[in-house]
Amino acid sequence: MKDIVPPPPGIVRNDAFEIQSLFQRNVMPTYGRLDLVLSHGSGSQLWDVAGKRYLDFGGGVAVCSLGHAPAAITEALVEQSRKLIHCSNYYYHAPQGRLAEALVNLIGPGKCFFSNSGAEANEGLFKLARKFGQEEGRFEIITALNSFHGRTLAAIAATGQEKIKKGFYPAVAGFRHVPYNDLAAARAAISPATAAILIEGIQGESGVTPATAEYLLGLRALCNEKNLLLLYDGVQCGHFRTGRFQSYQRILEGVPGGEMFRPDAISMAKSLGGGFPMGAFWVRAPHADLLSAGTHGSTYGGNPLGCAVALKILSVIQHEQLDQNARATGEFFQTGLQALVTRYPEIFREVRGLGLMIGLELSADHALLNAPGKAAALRFTNSLQAAGMLVIPTGTHVIRFLPALNLRRAEVEEGLQMIAAVAAELAVG
Ligand SMILES: *Cc1c(COP(=O)(O)O)cnc(C)c1O
Repeated sequence: MKDIVPPPPGIVRNDAFEIQSLFQRNVMPTYGRLDLVLSHGSGSQLWDVAGKRYLDFGGGVAVCSLGHAPAAITEALVEQSRKLIHCSNYYYHAPQGRLAEALVNLIGPGKCFFSNSGAEANEGLFKLARKFGQEEGRFEIITALNSFHGRTLAAIAATGQEKIKKGFYPAVAGFRHVPYNDLAAARAAISPATAAILIEGIQGESGVTPATAEYLLGLRALCNEKNLLLLYDGVQCGHFRTGRFQSYQRILEGVPGGEMFRPDAISMAKSLGGGFPMGAFWVRAPHADLLSAGTHGSTYGGNPLGCAVALKILSVIQHEQLDQNARATGEFFQTGLQALVTRYPEIFREVRGLGLMIGLELSADHALLNAPGKAAALRFTNSLQAAGMLVIPTGTHVIRFLPALNLRRAEVEEGLQMIAAVAAELAVG
């Protein structure tokens, strides 16, 4: 006869711990992840597996253009998946053709190629530049220091940050880096082998630095003069984030000659798919057929699901005037942040950006914030997370806000209060 033993105490479920251990055991440690296990979201709100609510001002790093779990995307996915989920690029289908037309209408005469990510879209730009210069033996692409263009071998070669290339040499040949917003440096870097110049409209990973109007117009004139392609990485700063479809349209607003400006090619991704992995690049009319049949391709690029989603996102942005929202809510947010910079000069150095692409630079002098062991940007990000707000740290001293384009004013007010609370704590600290 067995003793009657009481059942063991119920194990307290700790999903966060269990999920994190799954990662530790099975997922490569390529990301410096924050201590947060997410469960679900709605609009600009997210909940972790323990039920705590967060305001999401990172937007999946500029991806979730309509916020989390938007009904419009769910509907587009369901509707399209009932018809055709995948279609090889051996054939034609409506969503890809319609999306290409929509992008051409937004940018200008030209053609599109579809990829699955930003790095792949940039890869297309590199191949375009090589094809463009091939017969004359030109292949070099000038890019900017502190840029970010993705993680493939060519994209890290294009990226002007040593930390991203380290460990992966030899680099793909043919990239030269020059200081951003420095037209004379770009001119000086041109060699007989140069085929193109590639810049971001607003450098994101380096702490949110917009190109100046003079730089954009100067690069256009320089590329015309030297017969180079002007390539524009709009992966992070594009898709209405600044209030206009592409950031150059916003930067050049009201600038004489600005309406005439157009790069020769533009890469897109992130907000384009709103969370569905997709990328694209647009090429201006005279060069749009350079990548001819058989020269470039992608199995999933331009698949019906992704294109249906991207089309739906464009129509929601248009119907709900989210370009105007990005501009107005972004300005409201920047004004609020500026007030905090003025109130806490010992904590904040500067706020910069356009629309809903904003960087807040932290002071390098504040002792507590700059205590050894952790970068100030990460420390501030951790404190904001504890307060219930998610942001993206970049570099050592900048936190980035890249929220959904349908972010509400009330959410901005709540977010500002959280930032103010963290600052107040540091100020007495
Ligand atoms: C995110 C990003 C990329 C790379 O996009 P992936 O989809 O991660 O490949 C390229 N350029 C810029 C400016 C980006 O912000």
